[in-house]
Amino acid sequence: MSETASPQTHSFQTEVKQLLQLMIHSLYSNKEVFLRELISNGSDACDRLRFAALTDAGLMEDGETLSIRVSIDEANKTITIKDNGIGMTEEEVIENIGTIARSGTKQFLQALSGDAANDANLIGQFGVGFYSSFLVAQKVELTTRHAGQPNSAGVRWESEGEGEYTINAVDGVERGTTITLHLRDEEEEFSQAYRLRGIISRYSDHISLPIEMPSEDKEKNGEWESINSGSALWSRAKSEVTEEEYTRFYQTLTYDSEDPLATLHNRVEGTLEYTSLFFIPKKAPFDLWDREQRHGINLYVRRIFIMDDSKHLMPSYLRFVRGVVDAADLPLNVSREFLQNNKSIDRIRSASVKKILAELNRLAEKEPETYSTFWKEFGKVLKEGIVEDQDNKTVISDLLRFNSTRTEDGTQSESLASYFKRMPIKQKAIYYITADSHYAASTSPHLEIFRKNDIEVLLLSDPVDEWLVSSLTEYKDKPLKSIAKGALDLDDFSTDADKKANEDKAKDLESLTEKMRELLGEKVSSVRVSHRLTDSPACLVADESDLGGNLERILQSMGQTAPEAKPIMEVNPDHPLIKQLNPEHHQLGDWTQVLFDQAALSEGAPLTEPAAYVQKVNELLTKAVIAEG
Ligand code: ADP
Ligand code: MG
Repeated sequence: MSETASPQTHSFQTEVKQLLQLMIHSLYSNKEVFLRELISNGSDACDRLRFAALTDAGLMEDGETLSIRVSIDEANKTITIKDNGIGMTEEEVIENIGTIARSGTKQFLQALSGDAANDANLIGQFGVGFYSSFLVAQKVELTTRHAGQPNSAGVRWESEGEGEYTINAVDGVERGTTITLHLRDEEEEFSQAYRLRGIISRYSDHISLPIEMPSEDKEKNGEWESINSGSALWSRAKSEVTEEEYTRFYQTLTYDSEDPLATLHNRVEGTLEYTSLFFIPKKAPFDLWDREQRHGINLYVRRIFIMDDSKHLMPSYLRFVRGVVDAADLPLNVSREFLQNNKSIDRIRSASVKKILAELNRLAEKEPETYSTFWKEFGKVLKEGIVEDQDNKTVISDLLRFNSTRTEDGTQSESLASYFKRMPIKQKAIYYITADSHYAASTSPHLEIFRKNDIEVLLLSDPVDEWLVSSLTEYKDKPLKSIAKGALDLDDFSTDADKKANEDKAKDLESLTEKMRELLGEKVSSVRVSHRLTDSPACLVADESDLGGNLERILQSMGQTAPEAKPIMEVNPDHPLIKQLNPEHHQLGDWTQVLFDQAALSEGAPLTEPAAYVQKVNELLTKAVIAEG
């Protein structure tokens, strides 16, 4: 190997510098994860080479077997990790481990908790693994050459992790990547072979590639021996895998430090042969809501890694599921495009979805505590399934959990089935209200008449709930109905005398409500007498066919223009305020405006003219004080 040009010095981006500082100064325990990270990178590089070589055989050059070799130079206190994978070009080196902070860097910095054991796990999750070399090394050298170009120059990268690195071209580099760590004095323990062997078997046993170290057997001097068992766990029979092995595999796959919440291992035989091993985590990953999130299902074909993060194997509403699908009958050179319209993939996917939903259903019935942990973390995502997956809508609807006026602690523990079971026979619909917070939902004036009649109402306050109810319009033949929309039909709960009284009140107040409508002008479509209110003087109601205030506000906050629909204002004929008003009242304009603004406020809507509202209220209060005094 010889240098062909003098090294050029580059500087790391600020975020990378911060990251390095943190790595070096705050992750005291668990430094050993550096080896897991470097081996995982080597293994990725070999997987990528194997996959790319399926369509470009030249990449394999002289076709040697792929492996990762770890060796130690005790005298010089260095460790070398060498893979013969795909390697990197100079641009790739700069992009991947140089100046540019990778997408996860910022989030990693934000997520750091100060708990070293936990933070060390974050390294892998956020894709900042390479830099963990500096946990133990005062200097890192990397030499690499991209596969398929045996005669072109390789790249040498070197850094002390202090803000700068150098890069230069070198000749005579073998395919793949070699990383040499110059250990800090205090990290001497890592120059012991037994220590490295221990780390490899702890973290990297399931890597399906041989991870080799020089044999310690004197007779086999100079030979390499494999340290990991290297078997694909999922290809073993279920009965031969222990719980602990599943957990370790899960942790290697996800960098989670906890056990999975559920493990589903299945071998399917017949016309379509495949094995799947799925895990449901206990905790949501940091990027559950990130459109670019990198997780997903890893696809293998007969134990050969094809691709990670395959979005075609799991619908987006189950994106928290992690694991592996190994299909026996797919061609090895499948591309992402191929997967998009592939019948086998579709069948694997729909069977997998059914399996996972069935498992969730089992948990919901048999282990409600576990299920509620699940719901807390992933309920909002699962709700997307109602909209996204028409085929499984019924199954998913039974997995949903809500708050209701029966349990107002905000823990989302009521199912539609339990609501349904409690419904009195005469109740015609499943009632719900949507709002932008649990507080706003549970204190809505719309609930007053329902509370009075002891009718349960579901309290929905996740943004996704608006889409959920737009798609889930009935459950077991009972319509789901918003209590804030349209006319209220609680006829079956009131006596004939009540109805007569209501009609009379509406007639009595006709001229008042008509006057109020005039005064409010464009703000409302009408003003009418309410049958929903017992305590509040007024509320806003959307027309049956309108979106409703909450959805309009959600759309606006997303920068979309919602069709402007005017609400109906309803007034409570039994409220003293309304009783005191009449069409000739000299301040009816102010009172009407204040009533309208208050009704909007109690829905959680922002006022368009808050200062005018405050001024009007103060004026009216002052008058009241003077009158009393
Ligand atoms: P991640 O592995 O999550 O992408 P890392 O910080 O571990 O994050 O690695 C950054 C990138 O550097 C990798 O995505 C890969 O492109 C490149 N890289 C690291 N190590 C190797 C290697 N041994 N061979 C080829 N590319 C590598
Ligand atoms: Mg990595």
